[in-house]
Amino acid sequence: MNKFIFGLFFGFTAAISHAAPAHLHGQAELTVVVDEGALSISLESPLDNLLGFERLPRNDAERQRVRAMAISLRAAANLFVSDVAAQCSLSSVSLHAALPPELLGNSVSPTTSTPSTNTEHAELVADYVFSCHTIANLRQIEVGLFKVFPRLKRLVVQTAGPAGQTVQRLTPSASRVVLEP
Ligand SMILES: [Zn+2]
Repeated sequence: MNKFIFGLFFGFTAAISHAAPAHLHGQAELTVVVDEGALSISLESPLDNLLGFERLPRNDAERQRVRAMAISLRAAANLFVSDVAAQCSLSSVSLHAALPPELLGNSVSPTTSTPSTNTEHAELVADYVFSCHTIANLRQIEVGLFKVFPRLKRLVVQTAGPAGQTVQRLTPSASRVVLEP
């Protein structure tokens, strides 16, 4: 097997297996799954891209930044714009990060664990589910994350749908996910 073929094979396998997502500041991963009637989008990002720090907030100003981030992440209409003809509407958003749940807008349950205070890096996962009346009309999704979070420079997108799987790379100047029918 020559090096070129091996490189292709390895790259493909790594992309699909999602085994070891690199924690690179400026980069995040997006998974887009088109299913019958539903569009699921999952964002996995270093907190630095969204917040500018990766630890618990230390003062009121930082707590306010966490609240503002959560509000921006929950405003899905600004982040993901799908074809009008697909008639998609947001069903749910959930945010997962080692930050105080009340700042993320999550309901606090008695089992909520205390966030760790001494991690060097931290990530946030945001899961979105949209229900779409005519999902066959869904051809593309304009991603607004770069405008809302300017520290984000690159987005690696994996899509899965009826036509199969793709890996796409978005930047602030090319921020559209293409979904082939
Ligand atoms: Zn980090």
